[in-house]
Amino acid sequence: MSSMAKVAKALLLGGLAVSLSVSKAAAQAKPLAGADVPKIYERLLKQIDQIPIYDNHSHATFPDDSDMDAMAAPPGESSVLRLSDTNPEFVAAAKSLFGYPYDDFKPEHAKWLIDKKKAAEAAGGRAYWDGILDKLKIETCLANRVALAPYLDPKRFHWVFFVDSFLFPFDNHDQIAKNGDMAVYVPLQERVLQRYMKQESVGTLPADLAGYEAFVRQTVADNQKKGGVAMKFEAAYFRTLYFRDPPREKAEAIYAKYHAGGVPGEEDYRTFQDYVFRALIDEAGKLNLPMHFHSAVGIGDYFSLRNGNPLNLENVVRDPRYSNVKFVLIHGGYPYTLDMIWMTAAKNVYTDSSLMGYYVYPSELKNILKQWISLFPDKIMFGSDAFPFNDAVGAEETFWLASRSARTAIAAALAELVSEGAFNEEKAFELAHMYLHDNAAKLYGAKP
Ligand SMILES: [Zn+2]
Repeated sequence: MSSMAKVAKALLLGGLAVSLSVSKAAAQAKPLAGADVPKIYERLLKQIDQIPIYDNHSHATFPDDSDMDAMAAPPGESSVLRLSDTNPEFVAAAKSLFGYPYDDFKPEHAKWLIDKKKAAEAAGGRAYWDGILDKLKIETCLANRVALAPYLDPKRFHWVFFVDSFLFPFDNHDQIAKNGDMAVYVPLQERVLQRYMKQESVGTLPADLAGYEAFVRQTVADNQKKGGVAMKFEAAYFRTLYFRDPPREKAEAIYAKYHAGGVPGEEDYRTFQDYVFRALIDEAGKLNLPMHFHSAVGIGDYFSLRNGNPLNLENVVRDPRYSNVKFVLIHGGYPYTLDMIWMTAAKNVYTDSSLMGYYVYPSELKNILKQWISLFPDKIMFGSDAFPFNDAVGAEETFWLASRSARTAIAAALAELVSEGAFNEEKAFELAHMYLHDNAAKLYGAKP
C-alpha cells in the first residue's frame, strides 16, 4: 500500500468512526437496512400492538344480513390466493378469537364455528361485536353498510352509507344487459333507491330535476342525522370514475325525458349521472361529510382497472370549488398504490390500506406502507375491509387477518426505515400511531 493510500484509508476509517459515534439521525439515510432490523421490529411491534385502531372501512356483519353491502359478488368470480378457503391463516384467526379446536374448515369442523356465531346472533345484544373489537384492540370502526344493524354498538361502529343508487333512477334494462356483473349490481342499486324513497316518503320519482335533487340532498342530510359519518361510492364497479361537468339544463332535459319511463341511451345516462354526482359533492361540502370511493381493483368478471383507477378523480379532487370536501379514496388505489399516495398530496385527499391489506401478504403490504409513510404519513389510514367470506370465515376472522397484517407490516416498514437511519424509534412509533389511529380520528372528529 502506498503512503498516499494509507493516508486515504486512515481518513476513511476515521470518518467511519466519527459517523458511528454520533447518532444515526445525524447521518444520511442508507439505502440498505442493517442486521438490527429484527430487533428493532420486535421492539416496535410490542408497542404497535398496544395502539388502539381506528378502522376506516369495514363491513361488520353477521353473514346472513343482507344490509352488509349495497352489492353482492357475482357468481364464479375469481379470488386471490390469500383469500382461498384453504388459507391456514383463517384457522389461526378462528383459534385466536374463539379457541377453535380444529386445524381446517372441513364441513364437520366448520360447524363448530358456525354454531358459535349463530348462537351469538340469536342471543342478540351488542356485546358480541364489541368483544371482537376489544380482542383486536380496535377502538372505533366505520361500518359501510346499507343500514346500521341493531347488533352493532353505535358508539364503536360508525355508519358509512351508500349513494350510488341515486345514479340509477331510470329504466335500467340497458345497464343490466351490459354484462353478468351489472345484472347482479344494478337491481341491488334499484332496491337501495326504493328504500331511500320509502325513508323520505317519496312515492314516485319527482316530476322534475329540482325535485329529484331535493330528494337526493334530503336523504343524505337525513342519513347524516341518523349517524352517518361519510357517504360511499362503489361507482367504479358500474362506470368510469371520470366524472364530467355537464350543464344543469342538459341533466334537466334528460330527467324530464326519462323519469316516467323509457330507456336512456348510454351517453344520456352518463351525463345525468355526472350531474347528480356533482350535486352529491356539493351536498357533502355543505354537510361536512367525507366522500368515500372504491378506488382499486374490484371483484367480478368485468371490473375495469382503467375505469377504477383513482387518477380518474383528479379533476374532481383538484377542483377549487370542492376544496372544502374531504375525499377518502379507499383500498389504496391498489394496484396503483404509488399513484394513490401522490393523489393524497392534495390537502383534502386521504387513502387507506383496506382490501389490499388482506389481498397481499404482510411482506408486500410492508413495501407499500414503507413508500406511503415516507411520503405523506398524515394522509394514510388503516382499513380492514372486514367482510364475511362464508358462514364459517366471517368478518370476525377478516378483522383479525387485516389488523394482524397491518400491525406487523407497519412495524416491519418502520424497522427498516429506522435501521436505514431515516428517523429514530420514537418517531417511528408516532408515525405508526398516525396510520393506525390518529389520522382517521382527526378526519372524522375525535370522539368525546
Ligand atoms: Zn369494502
